[in-house]
Amino acid sequence: MKKLILTLFFIPAAWHAQQTVNQDTEIVNYISQVHADSLKSHIHKLVSFGTRHTMSSTTDPERGIGAARNWVLKKFSDYAKNANGRMEAFIQKHVIQPDGKRIDRPTDLGNVIAIIHGTNAQDKRMFMMSGHLDSRVSNVMNFNDNAPGANDDGSGIAGLIESARILSRSKFPGTIVLVAFSGEEQGLLGSKMLAEKAKNEGWQIEALLNNDMIGNHLTSETNLTNTHQLRVFSEGLPYYQLDKNARSIRAMGLENDGDARQLARYIKETGERYIDNFQVKMIYRNDRFLRGGDHTPFVEAGFPAVRLTEFNENYDHQHQDIRKEKGVQYGDLPEFMDFEYFKKNVGVNIAVLANLAKAPAKPEEVRIEVDQLTNFTTLTWEKPKFRENITGYYVLMRDTDVSTWQKKFFTTKNRIKLPYSKDNYFFAIQAVSNSGNESLAVTPKVKNEK
Ligand SMILES: [Zn+2]
Repeated sequence: MKKLILTLFFIPAAWHAQQTVNQDTEIVNYISQVHADSLKSHIHKLVSFGTRHTMSSTTDPERGIGAARNWVLKKFSDYAKNANGRMEAFIQKHVIQPDGKRIDRPTDLGNVIAIIHGTNAQDKRMFMMSGHLDSRVSNVMNFNDNAPGANDDGSGIAGLIESARILSRSKFPGTIVLVAFSGEEQGLLGSKMLAEKAKNEGWQIEALLNNDMIGNHLTSETNLTNTHQLRVFSEGLPYYQLDKNARSIRAMGLENDGDARQLARYIKETGERYIDNFQVKMIYRNDRFLRGGDHTPFVEAGFPAVRLTEFNENYDHQHQDIRKEKGVQYGDLPEFMDFEYFKKNVGVNIAVLANLAKAPAKPEEVRIEVDQLTNFTTLTWEKPKFRENITGYYVLMRDTDVSTWQKKFFTTKNRIKLPYSKDNYFFAIQAVSNSGNESLAVTPKVKNEK
């Protein structure tokens, strides 16, 4: 007899009375190790470099981006000692020339990278978290004045350091990569440099969580406070190879099920599973108006990449000279940050990275049968190549007008026939480990589709 275990989760209360929250105790333990005090001390250290402008000194031992990136490298290298040779840390460097835009002198650009290698060298899956180390004031070319960049994006960098500290001590099947980009404010230069390297070298990046400003809770102008929501921005229609895929996206109505959106959905479900009284808010666009982010060069290179950002932004404390005007303090200073809120946002990152890196790889050859008129839905798939601790698969289902998965069916088989019409729902398949860690969800293709 076919056995199905049905788990309901995150369904509006009006529909169902209960939801099952299955937490992996290891991940709960990681999150409990995120400390507001250590995040705070990292922010103060980052601010102490005066400016971290991309064109500031790379040779001064105390002031400028060079001293800052050496400090980040030192932190990563220290944590690597916990990892028994599984973790490496280095700076990806390149001297860039004036570009007639936001670089007006030869500049030593450097991304600080930590890689916590997976336990199986054959398994090339990479799960990335990033932030940007560089900072700025009102004039984007001003590399002299103090640019504390406490929240933008000291928060992203402090989050990376805290994640490195916690995750370096554990072994995962998948590889975790932590990146402190430079050159973000000068035109996403560091992320372009790494995205190009990743594409040329065939890195198998399955997720990039780019954190840019995750430690402020108060809006400027409207004075709204929000300490319980984190935004995740993701593209709908894929930028990469849209021409090639537009026909099937349109035919199957998959404009809301691209890789970046599936990643955003996964972040929402996983983040809310582990962080109490917290909501991950999916924003259905790649980024905010008038602003860019380091996930975008990865999106454009075809990798699933999203931006994680605080719900509320405060323009008095972004890209501002430090000054007082009419009693208002401007500047990106630590005193305007909320470290308890910040801690939750770091927790979301750790939950997602650990859940992905512990999970089996994604199921392969996921297909939906569409060659017959029937009120059943039949899905088939093949087991993933890398499947340490795999226990089975979740078949995810939701109404076409609902943004998150509503039902999941567990099976150990490679085929499922459900008494729900394929016309009325979206489906996807995840592989799941015996401690409940799910792979990213794979949207089925129709038979014979490549
Ligand atoms: Zn930023």
